[in-house]
Formats: sequence, C-alpha cells, structure tokens
Amino acid sequence: MSANVIALATSRRPAEIPSLEPVLARRVTVLGSTGSIGISTLDVIAHARATYGQDTMPIEALTAQSNVETLAAQARALHPKLAVIGDPALYTSLKEALAGTRVEVAAGRDAIVQAASRPSDIVMVAIVGVASLVPALRAVERGATVALANKECIVAAGDVFRRAIQASGAAVIPVDSEHNAVFQVLDAADPNEVDRVTLTASGGPFRGWQKDRMQAVTPAQAVAHPNWSMGAKISVDSATLMNKGLELIEAHYLFALPPEKLSVLVHPQSVVHCLVSYADGSTLAHLSAPDMRTPIAHALAWPRRIVSPSRRLDLASLGQLTFERPDPEVFPALRLAQDCLREGGLAPTILNAANEIAVDAFLTKGLGFLDIPRVVEAALGEFGSHSHNLSPANLDAVLAADGQARELAGNICRRMVA
Ligand code: NAD
Ligand code: MG
Repeated sequence: MSANVIALATSRRPAEIPSLEPVLARRVTVLGSTGSIGISTLDVIAHARATYGQDTMPIEALTAQSNVETLAAQARALHPKLAVIGDPALYTSLKEALAGTRVEVAAGRDAIVQAASRPSDIVMVAIVGVASLVPALRAVERGATVALANKECIVAAGDVFRRAIQASGAAVIPVDSEHNAVFQVLDAADPNEVDRVTLTASGGPFRGWQKDRMQAVTPAQAVAHPNWSMGAKISVDSATLMNKGLELIEAHYLFALPPEKLSVLVHPQSVVHCLVSYADGSTLAHLSAPDMRTPIAHALAWPRRIVSPSRRLDLASLGQLTFERPDPEVFPALRLAQDCLREGGLAPTILNAANEIAVDAFLTKGLGFLDIPRVVEAALGEFGSHSHNLSPANLDAVLAADGQARELAGNICRRMVA
C-alpha cells in the first residue's frame, strides 16, 4: 500500500470545544435507517430528545431500500423533511403511508444520493455493502461530518475517499465499534509513537469449532451472533471472520496505519474493543458493553458526549475477560483479507465485492459456508490474471472493478452450487 496514506479519521480535538447547544442542534441524515444501525441511531436520537428537548438533532432525511412499513413509522415518529425508498416500485406505497404528513417522499437510487447531498450537519452511513459508496462520497464531497458505520465503502474505495476528504475537509467519525474505540484512544503526536493497534473479534458463533463441523452450517446458525444483534450480511462476515479482515483494511485507511502495525485478538466477551500500544510500553484500551448505541452516540456528539440508552458495563458481574489468537487455518477469510491489505491496489475492492456475492449466495442460493472464502480466493485469482490495471485510480475504476469482481464471483458461485 502507498506509504503516504493520510488518516481519514483523526481524533485530534478541535481547538475550540463547542458548547452542548450547537451539538444538540445538529441536523442529521440517516442512510439505511431501517437496518440494525439505522434503528439504533434513531433510538439514540429519540433518547436524546427525551433528555434534552424535542428539538434535539432534527432529521433532514431518512432512507431505506424496501421496508416501507418501518420507514413510514420512523418518519411519522421523527418528522424528517424527506423519506426515500430505494426500490422505485415502492414509491406509491411510501407516498400513501405518509399521506397527511409534511414529509417529502422520493424513490430510487439517485434519490438516495440526493438525500446525502441535502444540507445536514451529520450523515450516518448505515447502508450495507458497496451500495453506500456513492451516497457516502457525496456527503464527503459537500463537507458534511460523516458518521461511518459502513465499512465496505472504505475497503472498496479507500483512496477515493482519501482524495475526496482532502479536497472538502469533511470529517469522518468511525462508528464501527472497534474503529470508534481506536478513534477514542489513539492519540499520538507522531505515528512512530504507535507500536501496534489491535482490533478485538468475538470469534463469532463458530469459535473453537473444527473445520469439518462447519461444512453443514446453515444461514440461521451463521447469523446467530453470540454478542451482537446485527444485519444478516455482517453477521455472516463475523462468522467467517471476514468482518475482522475488512476491519483491518478499514483501520489501515481510517488511521493511516501500515499493515504490520495492525493485528487481531479474539476476545469472546466483546467488552474490550481495541488496544493501542505505544512505544513506551503503555497500552490503552477502550471498554464498553457490546451495544452499538454507544459508538453511535459518540459519533453524533463528538467532541462532546451525550447520554445514550445503551447497556452499561458491569465488570464484576462479568467476572473475567479472556483473549486468544485467531486460527487462520479454520478461518481463511482473515488471511485473504490480510493478503489483500498488503497487496493494495484494487485487491481490497475485489475481495469485498466477491465476499458480498458469496455471502448473498450462502444466505439465499445454497452456497456452503466454507465455500464463502473459496469463492473470494478464486475471484481474486481470476481477476488478477485478467486484469491489466490494478490501480484504484478513481471512482470509475473502483466501480468497474467492483462490477467485474461481482460477475466473476457470481459465476464461481453458480459452478460451486451446481
Ligand atoms: P442491515 O442489513 O440491518 O441494514 C441495512 C440498511 O441498508 C437497511 O436500512 C436497508 O434498507 C439499507 N439497504 C440495503 N441495501 C441497500 C441498497 N442496495 N441501497 C440502499 N440502501 C440499502 O445492516 P446493518 O447491520 O445495520 O449494517 C449496516 C452497515 O454498518 C454495514 O456496512 C455493516 O458492516 C456496518 N456495521 C454494522 C454493525 C451492526 O452492529 N449492525 C456494526 C458495525 C458496522
Ligand atoms: Mg466492528
């Protein structure tokens, strides 16, 4: 990877800490409001309104792909100016569901990008997958503060984001719990002061399993995460450990850390979210109960802190925190992601696209659980041999590689399922 990467997210405190009033008056857009992160975000805002007053964090826009019922209920409760449904066939249903309200209604992929373009102080990016890439980039380009839950867009297009952030001066506040944790404890005057950043992983539902036992794992088993309640895609990623692999690449871009300073430690209790080790031997950790409403509240209010409805940490009840090394033989997805991180260029883009296709094929088309990393590895191999340009030069190059990798991975999945 290029040596001159600059951090997309830095926790350096602004020269002037704002008073709470302008923080509570921030206007918020939530992309992907009907998903796990979206619902938790609106829960944090509802709690803040009950605490600080009903005019706290007014909402500019809410977007969802197909869940009209939940989107309409959210819009009726929180009064955004705009509600967007991604599937254009659902425009009339949403319009009818919001009849008699003052909420503007729109539909389609472009309308989601438009929603990200409208003036708001913070855009919560909680769409799943690379579908978030163009709207997230639009929010960055207009200089909004981007609360970034989605990791796939950074993995696929880290360099494109870097350039857009340099041009607009937008702030990115990580919401992914480990990265939000690093954002809170990474504080070095010079990158040489940081020896290592460790992201923790719960290990997922199959921690400690032998590989042969995983052959027949069903989607229902894979999405049953021991500690976190999340959308289906990230739950499967947590079960294969691809999630942690994507997070290493995410951390590389967000904090400008070279691959050799990034590591993973399995920590089944999901209480310690990161460890930052410094040159003097100090290690700083971030702890919280496993509840996404904590990093969400942090991102919405940074550099201040607001109350949130999240669960609180009770270490005495927990008794012990344990740590172990991940097993790269049983979880090859982690190794694949680490290889792509070192390789750079378009390798992370291809890794991510192939993984999205493979996870979907596992969830809906009968692909085996252990075939997920096999599809990704095969797609990386086939793409490499056909590609004449492995540079993530611009958005078009990234989108072209993403599309090509999806097609390759789709074909590989069909061959494997047949
Ligand atoms: P989810 O599946 O629960 O929700 C996804 C949201 O995106 C929904 O609102 C859906 O309507 C919308 N969406 C889906 N496809 C879309 C498309 N093609 N175009 C526009 N919108 C679309 O997912 P989630 O678990 O909330 O995760 C969202 C993102 O946050 C993911 O990138 C995930 O990796 C990341 N993340 C989630 C968690 C968590 O605890 N859930 C933790 C860390 C990071
Ligand atoms: Mg995470």
